[in-house]
Amino acid sequence: MKILLLSDIHANLTALEAVMVNVAELAPIDAIWVSGDTVGYGPDPNECIELVRESANMVVAGNHELAAIGKLSTEEFNAYAAAAADWTQKSLTDSVAEYIAEMPLRLEHGDFTLVHGSPRDPVWEYLLTDDGFRANLDHFETPGCVVGHSHMQFMVQIPDDGAMVVRAEQDVVVNIGDDRFFINPGSVGQPRDGDPRAAYAIYDEGERTVTFKRAEYDIGATQKRMESAGLPEVLADRLSHGR
Ligand code: ZN
Repeated sequence: MKILLLSDIHANLTALEAVMVNVAELAPIDAIWVSGDTVGYGPDPNECIELVRESANMVVAGNHELAAIGKLSTEEFNAYAAAAADWTQKSLTDSVAEYIAEMPLRLEHGDFTLVHGSPRDPVWEYLLTDDGFRANLDHFETPGCVVGHSHMQFMVQIPDDGAMVVRAEQDVVVNIGDDRFFINPGSVGQPRDGDPRAAYAIYDEGERTVTFKRAEYDIGATQKRMESAGLPEVLADRLSHGR
């Protein structure tokens, strides 16, 4: 059983489609899990949600889903994110808005808990520090947890005693091991780790491995649609830099 892990698609259909093509060339995928922020920032919220709705087996909401249906105030967003959230809210079809309203903040399956930010705060917490990882271990029961939100791609293994191990190499098959762990597949639609290519991960349930991958996509095509939509230029520019 191979599972495609996706997060932070951020309404970037060109990036999402590139990932789907890239994955299809690699191996048959048995399931798709999405850890939030399928909308927000980008120009294709309805198209991305429809594709996720058709193809994904588990999908949780992120802060941008909640903002897009008015469940979360955009006061805590920066000005550009807030402008994009307002645009998204106006652009959603009724059917997509209804689907988003039904999305849970947390799901469990097998060895995994799936959330956007963190198990203790699925909406807002950026899970990036040693203290943050350790503090969250008490907030979920499964061995592993898949998160998103920071737009950084990594796995963190946390032995009972000793230092945690952070893995983030591309195209390397990494054993999950017996320790508890967090995986962030990175952001499909707006990477922030300096690599502008769309990020994703493949989890192999039988082999108990994870592999981090990137897919090239036509960044200019997404930027053009953002410009036509009147979305903030700074949000389009950052796609070129992966920052
Ligand atoms: Zn995000």
